[in-house]
Amino acid sequence: MKELICIVCPRGCHLQVDETNNDAVTGNACPRGADYGVQELRHPMRTLTSTVVLLGGIHRRLPVRTNGPIPKQAIPMAMDAINRLRVEAPVRAGQVLCQNLSGTGVELIATKTMEII
Ligand code: SF4
Repeated sequence: MKELICIVCPRGCHLQVDETNNDAVTGNACPRGADYGVQELRHPMRTLTSTVVLLGGIHRRLPVRTNGPIPKQAIPMAMDAINRLRVEAPVRAGQVLCQNLSGTGVELIATKTMEII
């Protein structure tokens, strides 16, 4: 039995996922929690947020995030790519900085507009 806290909504239900019983989920107040429990147990995903080096901007780093969740196990590889990335100002919030980040199929986007210095 695996115990998890559902992070799909602020209610934070305490879930139990029974691997010995076909991944049966209990403790969820709605069906989304059951889906989350099974996915978290079998194929955990996360939306990745970080910063990248910004060249010529009013700040030295630019906040970024993936535009969708990626497998948790792909995070170290994605962070390597993010750490190698250099972005030139100006940048608009929502601008795609990298397509198919580390082969995950998601894009890396800027979360803040940054003007030239
Ligand atoms: S199980 Fe449903 S109600 Fe409970 S935290 Fe998850 S999404 Fe929210």
